[in-house]
Amino acid sequence: MTKTCSKCNFKSDLILKKYPHWIAVVSESPTPIGWIYIILKRHAEYFDELTDAELIELKKIIKELKKVLIKAFNPDWFNVMQMGNMSRHIHFHLIPRYKHKIRFANRTFSDPDYGNMLVNRYKPANKIFLLKLKAYLKSKL
Ligand SMILES: [Zn+2]
Repeated sequence: MTKTCSKCNFKSDLILKKYPHWIAVVSESPTPIGWIYIILKRHAEYFDELTDAELIELKKIIKELKKVLIKAFNPDWFNVMQMGNMSRHIHFHLIPRYKHKIRFANRTFSDPDYGNMLVNRYKPANKIFLLKLKAYLKSKL
């Protein structure tokens, strides 16, 4: 645990599920919609610092959350990414990718970069919307 690390002291009302080694959280930025990130519960920075137990659990989590996203929005593909450019504390991104448009909460969402590398379109949505999205994904768990 480091004092300055926001993920060591992680608090959010967008937590989807807590696991023994990881916490799954709905991203504040809904492009593409259903973006989830998965944070390691202890401070580590590089992929190769993960224990076998943490890696095995991560694989199970990704499998479980893919099913959730398929039920929720039926994505055409998934990206799994670990970068650490903005926050080094190990976290993975599970990003659903869409050929089609998604209607949710009276809004239409698209994935303008489908078939290509994801472009940074970080734009947080409002809290009411995000809580609705979290509840919807939770209902598919
Ligand atoms: Zn940390």
